[in-house]
Amino acid sequence: MSATVIDGKAFAADVRARVAAHVAVLHDSHGITPGLAVVLVGEDPASQVYVRAKGKQTSEVGMASFEHKLAVDTDEATLLDLIDRLNADPKVHGILVQLPLPAHLNSDLVINRIDPAKDVDGFHISNVGLLGTGQKAMVPCTPLGCLMLLRAHHGSLSGMNAVVIGRSNIVGKPMANLLLGDSCTVTIAHSRTRDLPGVVRQADIVIAAVGRPEMVTGDWIKPGATVIDVGINRIDAGEGKTRLVGDVDYASVAAVAGAITPVPGGVGPMTIACLLANTLTACCRTNGLSEPEGLTV
Ligand code: NAD
Repeated sequence: MSATVIDGKAFAADVRARVAAHVAVLHDSHGITPGLAVVLVGEDPASQVYVRAKGKQTSEVGMASFEHKLAVDTDEATLLDLIDRLNADPKVHGILVQLPLPAHLNSDLVINRIDPAKDVDGFHISNVGLLGTGQKAMVPCTPLGCLMLLRAHHGSLSGMNAVVIGRSNIVGKPMANLLLGDSCTVTIAHSRTRDLPGVVRQADIVIAAVGRPEMVTGDWIKPGATVIDVGINRIDAGEGKTRLVGDVDYASVAAVAGAITPVPGGVGPMTIACLLANTLTACCRTNGLSEPEGLTV
């Protein structure tokens, strides 16, 4: 068997086009421009790349982009004060604080200072609680992107066995909640799980969110299963070069699975597309306007 490749890059382009179309309607009919504020503390190179990409794509869909770059030694009071001002700013509908923050800053405190209605990353405890209880929430972008890809591929996920490998707050746990919301039977596996290959072999849907290059191999996969690879790992490619790989050993898994997301070009592009979708959703909710269909849960 050779797996169908789920093209996240193309799907993300479609999401951005749908966001842009709705943004244009908001602008023309209501005079509203959704705005996203991104806060970056310090100069972590990977974070700088993400923030640049976010700013560019925000502008491309017709939204306002506000970037706040703070020095690495910024103190907590200054950062909290900025968040308070963004919370109060009517031009800002979404606020994202780029993680990880420098070690002297308390990430939980900072994230929970964001107005939950503007928390487009879905990390505020209010949104975590709303998602966990099946209520309308701001949903974390990466798991939302994975769910969109799964729904597009399968239609209904009801009754399917899903195994999520990884229990982080930003991917594994919200992913499990979303799959539960779509009536999957969900197992969360992690670093202490016994017989991980045996657990994964039960799955109709595998979500790999571990951060270990090419850990999941073809002999772990039930024939025909759908495999979503969240991992982004940079490995040595020899001759002084590097390349990106996922948490899934693509060649051996693609030979057994029914469908698979590649790295790059799978989940990665969906994350920023869902950030834009969440900003649009936040803007619509704040203004009491109907939400775009299919861009949130
Ligand atoms: P994390 O380090 O916070 O969590 C990793 C999880 O994997 C932990 O819960 C841990 O229990 C589990 N784990 C570690 N070793 C394991 C093992 N040997 N067997 C089973 N489970 C194990 O990571 P994260 O933030 O959830 O990210 C996971 C991966 O996804 C990383 O590669 C990250 O770069 C990537 N990521 C990608 C996107 C995207 O946009 N595509 C977004 C976020 C994270």
